[in-house]
Amino acid sequence: MDIVAELRNLLPNNAVLTAPEDTSPFETDWRHIHSHPALCVVLPETALQVAAIMKVCGKAKVAVVPQGGNTGLVAGGVPVEGLPQIVLSLKRMRSIRDFDPVGDTMIVEAGLTLQEVQEAAAAQAKMFPVSFGAEGSAQIGGIISTNAGGLQVLSYGSTRAQVLGLEVVLPDGRIWNGLKRLRKDNTGFDLKQLFIGGEGLLGIITAASLKLRPAVTARATALAGIVTLEDAIALFRLMKTHAGDALTMCEFISGPAMELSLGHLQNVRRPFTAAAYVLVELSGYQGTVEIEDLLEKALNAALDAGCVADVIIAQNERERSALIRTREGISEGELAEGGAVKHDIAVPIAAIPETIRAVEAAIAEHFPDCRLNIFGHIGDGNLHVNLRPPPGQSLHDLEDRKAAITETVERIAVARQGSFSAEHGIGQMRIAGMAAHKPAIELDMMRALKRAFDTENILNPGKMLP
Ligand SMILES: Cc1cc2nc3c(=O)[nH]c(=O)nc-3n(C[C@H](O)[C@H](O)[C@H](O)COP(=O)(O)OP(=O)(O)OC[C@H]3O[C@@H](n4cnc5c(N)ncnc54)[C@H](O)[C@@H]3O)c2cc1C
Repeated sequence: MDIVAELRNLLPNNAVLTAPEDTSPFETDWRHIHSHPALCVVLPETALQVAAIMKVCGKAKVAVVPQGGNTGLVAGGVPVEGLPQIVLSLKRMRSIRDFDPVGDTMIVEAGLTLQEVQEAAAAQAKMFPVSFGAEGSAQIGGIISTNAGGLQVLSYGSTRAQVLGLEVVLPDGRIWNGLKRLRKDNTGFDLKQLFIGGEGLLGIITAASLKLRPAVTARATALAGIVTLEDAIALFRLMKTHAGDALTMCEFISGPAMELSLGHLQNVRRPFTAAAYVLVELSGYQGTVEIEDLLEKALNAALDAGCVADVIIAQNERERSALIRTREGISEGELAEGGAVKHDIAVPIAAIPETIRAVEAAIAEHFPDCRLNIFGHIGDGNLHVNLRPPPGQSLHDLEDRKAAITETVERIAVARQGSFSAEHGIGQMRIAGMAAHKPAIELDMMRALKRAFDTENILNPGKMLP
């Protein structure tokens, strides 16, 4: 069976790409680490087309790799080595199907970008609160499939908390319309949860019913300079005490992380120099207490307590955006400088300082020539612990030490009742961690689900499950 010819028969003109210059961006991951060929890339426009593709590929036993904005950091949305496979990109499924101003819900197709959904919500005086550096490219289907976190999880929860229903094409080509808009529905298993964070192993998400929040009407944002890691935790606690739920962002930026970001960003001035930085933001709604006052009181308390050495408060939207960009620019700055062996660990919040010290000690002992770049989400106990190669070397030169570096970092997190993959997922790049750290009973249950949904193992094989 000529699968490419079959797919061309099914789909509109220009919906099946085979020329290498067209397919290569879909075959290579954001970090430029994994690149394997696909037989073709398909660009369906409807759930019915996705279903037809699944049926044809099921018959031909050709694997299907669902792809959103291809910004994932664990190579889950690109082909694996040595399989006949196609990439199914959702980028042409872009409709907003429904908006409910009373129930605060929106039904959107999977290929809209996160930023487009944020903007569509804002146009209706609502907010979709998931936010992170790749929001201009990451798609709704992708953020749901990775259960993305980002900068505001502390207050609003991760993507899982924003999803009320899903439309999913199953591996056998059936379409499940689960696009409910309900806040309550205890009618058996909550099946949508299997696809949220499911990394495209059980089905292809074609649309989602999303929960919106009231639009934030005021924000107060500050960057604090700190001296010790304990200062970061003390500042977080003071912010929570003074601002409670108004605290919507509390981000840690180490000195090296700030340098990578500033080196990459244009038109952003260095705010001041510190050993490390904490970015905080309070959000408010009309009629609530003045958040600027709250922020000032909390920061004064922090200055009095000695946990903040220096601080700058954004005076307008332009200054706020510059501060947020210093945080969001870290990953791109790191990539521009040649990339890193990346990790995404979570530990109980109180354990953050000790965890960072344990990482620093282990790296100094075993990999003293490598350069640490640590940043993350304090309010979620989530740290990105990245190791850059020694000056003058490339990431490729770390190839034979990569597994040992990752094992060292992951073991430190797991030993503290932590997670070895907090918000990025497993993809192709964390499978060794699954084998090393996931209890056998959990792997058994996951494999049983995979077998039940995908009898032919054609949907995103080689990802997540060891
Ligand atoms: C600069 C930068 C900053 C980032 N910051 C954060 C952050 O702060 N927090 C965070 O959590 N993550 C962050 N990420 C990573 C984040 O996981 C991804 O950016 C995003 O969630 C993936 O969306 P995507 O559309 O690009 O998905 P892709 O990368 O295309 O795919 C990701 C996974 O989802 C699957 N998939 C995609 N679409 C579908 C679909 N419709 N149905 C079924 N499966 C699908 C793919 O097969 C793959 O397994 C960041 C990434 C970058 C590049």
